[in-house]
Amino acid sequence: MGKHRKKDTEMIHGMKKEEDAYRSLTPPIYQTSTFVFDSAEQGQNRFSGDEGGYIYSRLSNPTVRELEERIALIEEGEEALAFSSGMGAVSAILTTLTKTGDHIVCSKGVYGCTYGFLKMMKEKYRVDFSFHNLSNQEMIEEAIQPNTSCIYVETPINPTMEIIDLELVVKVAKSHGIPVVVDNTFSSPYLQNPLSVGCDVVIHSATKYIGGHGDVIAGIAVGNKKLMNLVAMTARKDIGASLSPFDAWLLLRGIKTLAIRMDRHSEHALKIAEMLERHPAVEEVYYPFLPSHPQYELAKKQMRKGGGLITFKLKGADKEETQKFMNRLKLIQIAVSLGDAESLIQHPATMTHAVVDEEERIKMGITDNMVRLSVGLEAWEDIWNDLDQALQ
Ligand SMILES: *Cc1c(COP(=O)(O)O)cnc(C)c1O
Repeated sequence: MGKHRKKDTEMIHGMKKEEDAYRSLTPPIYQTSTFVFDSAEQGQNRFSGDEGGYIYSRLSNPTVRELEERIALIEEGEEALAFSSGMGAVSAILTTLTKTGDHIVCSKGVYGCTYGFLKMMKEKYRVDFSFHNLSNQEMIEEAIQPNTSCIYVETPINPTMEIIDLELVVKVAKSHGIPVVVDNTFSSPYLQNPLSVGCDVVIHSATKYIGGHGDVIAGIAVGNKKLMNLVAMTARKDIGASLSPFDAWLLLRGIKTLAIRMDRHSEHALKIAEMLERHPAVEEVYYPFLPSHPQYELAKKQMRKGGGLITFKLKGADKEETQKFMNRLKLIQIAVSLGDAESLIQHPATMTHAVVDEEERIKMGITDNMVRLSVGLEAWEDIWNDLDQALQ
């Protein structure tokens, strides 16, 4: 039935559920650590897997399960797993797909803590990684080493908004039998569905657009049943970054308005990106749906809309002047994170990407005069007036 409905509808209704005794419209929060067995034998059968059913909430929980089913549906995947943070999802997937001696091909830029995790994996467990420009077939072929066990990409890349052609990466990866993992946080399941073009795993920091209200830290991974079952029974169960039932409920609540929020974020961000581009104090604007974006055509092919994030550089500004500009903002608040109703601005070089070594950071294109704006749901005129007064 789900297959015939539009994504906007699926976000609100999900799969048809068993009716609960009280016909509650919204799902109950099963705020419990454990589940009682009818008998010792039933406990044995649940542990052996001969019988389905819940055991303990670190392994699985009905409210969390409802969220996972909803996300799998809208991300067009077989199975989703929820985590207590986006990094919980990133680390569970990467530890499952690699072992000592392996190598990970990464897009030119990755989220700061993902970089931190890769560095730790390299230093402590000898799982190597390298960053690559993956913009044509030869470059992707060249990036792959005999010991490459997965390709890990963000698109748009945080914070430079470069786009990676997922179909192209998948084509090359498939010919080598290597799985492709995509951090889809910036687009949300509404704007881009990497699994539908053949990628193997999608990761979200659900803290951002999926939650959408700045009140929860959570992560999601989506992929085929076999891999997700393995992750559920190893990295998630034994490392333990499981999501709490209440946080799952907050995300189910957020998803209901994901489509309408993404439409508005995208519409307003495009307007503001266009106005920033014309402002004399702005050196350069990076937004996927601006015709001046070098990969505008690719962005239009791959994404339904441009999303709510704009990165821009201030003309001739050093770090101090860039910080002064941020301090002059009144409506837009200085904070990392993104995808909330409130507009937020951050300084990648000293905040989200401060953990990245300076040399790598320059290679990623992150400069001291660069800021990243998460366009909120306020009236765009108010967001613009605030930027304009601070740019004077
Ligand atoms: C925030 C973020 C993460 C990490 O997610 P948390 O929920 O903060 O752990 C990973 N990737 C991207 C692109 C992000 O923006």
